[in-house]
Amino acid sequence: MAGRNQAQERIEALRALLQKYRHQYHVEDAPSVTDAEYDQLMHELEVLEQEYPEWASESSPTRTVGGEAAPEFSTVRFEKPVLSLGNLHSLDEYQDYAARVSQWLQGPADPLEWTMELKIDGLSVILDYADGRLVRAATRGDGAVGEDVTPNVREIPVIPERLTVPLTAQFRGEVYMPRSRFDEINRAREEQGLIPFANPRNAAAGSLRQLDPMVTRDRGLKAFIYEIRSLAGADRPDRQSRALEQIAAWGLPVEPHWRVAHTVEDVQQFIERFETHQVPLDFDIDGLVFKLDRVDWQDQLGATAKTPRWAMAYKFPPEEALTRVRDIVISVGRTGTLTPTAELEPVLLAGTRVSRASLHNEDILKELDVRIGDSVFVRKAGEIIPEVVRVETVLRPSNTRPFEFPSQCPACGGPVMRVPGESAHRCTAGLSCPAQLRESLIHFASRDAMDIEGMGEKTVDLLLASDLVASIADIYRLDAGRLLQLPRFATLSAEKLASAIEQSKNQPLARLIYGLGIRFVGERGALTLAEHYRTMKALESTGIDALLEVPDVGPRTAESVVQFFAAEVNRSIIAQLRELGVNMEQPAQEAVGPRPLGGQTFVLTGTLESMPRKSAEERLTALGARVASAVSQQTTAVIYGEKAGSKLQKAEQLGILRMNEQEFLAWLSNLPGNF
Ligand code: NAD
Repeated sequence: MAGRNQAQERIEALRALLQKYRHQYHVEDAPSVTDAEYDQLMHELEVLEQEYPEWASESSPTRTVGGEAAPEFSTVRFEKPVLSLGNLHSLDEYQDYAARVSQWLQGPADPLEWTMELKIDGLSVILDYADGRLVRAATRGDGAVGEDVTPNVREIPVIPERLTVPLTAQFRGEVYMPRSRFDEINRAREEQGLIPFANPRNAAAGSLRQLDPMVTRDRGLKAFIYEIRSLAGADRPDRQSRALEQIAAWGLPVEPHWRVAHTVEDVQQFIERFETHQVPLDFDIDGLVFKLDRVDWQDQLGATAKTPRWAMAYKFPPEEALTRVRDIVISVGRTGTLTPTAELEPVLLAGTRVSRASLHNEDILKELDVRIGDSVFVRKAGEIIPEVVRVETVLRPSNTRPFEFPSQCPACGGPVMRVPGESAHRCTAGLSCPAQLRESLIHFASRDAMDIEGMGEKTVDLLLASDLVASIADIYRLDAGRLLQLPRFATLSAEKLASAIEQSKNQPLARLIYGLGIRFVGERGALTLAEHYRTMKALESTGIDALLEVPDVGPRTAESVVQFFAAEVNRSIIAQLRELGVNMEQPAQEAVGPRPLGGQTFVLTGTLESMPRKSAEERLTALGARVASAVSQQTTAVIYGEKAGSKLQKAEQLGILRMNEQEFLAWLSNLPGNF
């Protein structure tokens, strides 16, 4: 933060923003940002308030419990405040916290023990029982005043009207909507043309905070109770773990996965089990809760105005993070596409440090309106590089300007053209653009293409800097003598590279086609083309109609292939390669072993655990199957791993056979041949 004034401005902006988000979340049950975004803004405010204590305020969201009672409900005033929880995010933070607790307890004689519970992602309810009968139920509200939702809570079947004993007590718990019910309700809402609920938490809150209890009844809410807030006529249990047992014995629902941790290893194991979803649950959790097991120690530690000191929420790492854009840079790819990338202030995201995020293309950049200096949310999208999700415009500094997409190529100064019908901008200079030449050479030599060992990015940069290559064909004009001119190249390394280049001449046609970098022709497409056409000559002279006959080749690919071979520069490169002795044929498929899957088509989706997807594809093709990228009626089966998405859904809709990884492996091992 540059100065005090800016810090003050930011503190105020953050407070206003957080208040707005709280209202949307707690009162309207309609958040506009994810919890991770909210938590990160809150964290930033906490840090700033610590750094600038002169602007502290009792009413700051960092010191108050979020959510006021909505006017349509009668209110309930709590005798004892209903608190929120502080947050931990790692085992290290847990250990620091445990050390602080030990200090506050002035070195307790016995080791600390923690009841570890699941943090149910629903909304808090406070239940009052008098002589064993449910007399009142309230939401948390702002912690001092809640909303009376008694008739609605009576419609939640797991909350008993009567306890097993005639107690007068107040309990706290969480009302939630089971995942399965949430899916059903959303499906029905979509069919009725209603807006589906964003997540089970909102659905639960929206279903409980209803003026008509019949609506609550239909929504299938459930609840877990985890705290005795007051108790008359019986002894209060002296440990949280005993309280949970007691609550269950009185007939209230208790989430059963809680454990008492005696050591840090216990804590670690518990975190791992739930963070990695080892235990199937029919409800969402947004973390865990650690509570000091001994109630006398809880009393000794007390609470701040917002949170108890004896308990902490452990939040799972967010998939999104807030950071600032330092710069927007444009890179030029192999096919001349200009890609904007945001350079970021490094931030931790799902456990890794991120300093760049993709902005994809001009349309997306414009739509997001990302500017240098902006605060943005970045997200990890699967295994690809992170992307910018949105700009937090409230935090935008006053001196920013919309980003202007360049009209000249940043690598060669050549004119930039927008491809009609596409969102990509392309440098039109072709291989005379150094960026495109560099990327083309790297791609050509890469492992999946011509596989020239030793010709990675660094060597390509040296070759370009020494003017030894100006096209793909020039690679085959290099020999050990010329390579020796390169800085840091000794006889041995020059000979090794020369021999790798020589060997690559024998690669099958499929690799050459892939290496040429024809748009929309990936590795699998190149193999299809090579196996169909067999020689470069046949491919060179093919037409769109013939290409469309090839299985898996669509109009976009067909057009791109024809265009590629129509360009004089490409024809000339291929002629040179031929003259320099590069193989232009695809070897005939030898009848190697049985091909039991001939004529069958498979689609792979999601992440497989036991092998990379590519190996699975190779195994299938070796058995004669075709591996396609899209699911259609022609698909024999879809093989899915972790995080499988729309392809699996499509297969379900079309009624196509689906196999998970275990089923797939078992099935493979039963096929003829030794697979
Ligand atoms: P919290 O959700 O971080 O933690 C406290 C809550 O945990 C309690 O009120 C209780 O309801 C719940 N809980 C679930 N299981 C529990 C258990 N076993 N023991 C004890 N408590 C348990 O704090 P909060 O003050 O209720 O809400 C703040 C959080 O809400 C934020 O961290 C954010 O995740 C979310 N939020 C999101 C937005 C948004 O716009 N997306 C806005 C406001 C708040």
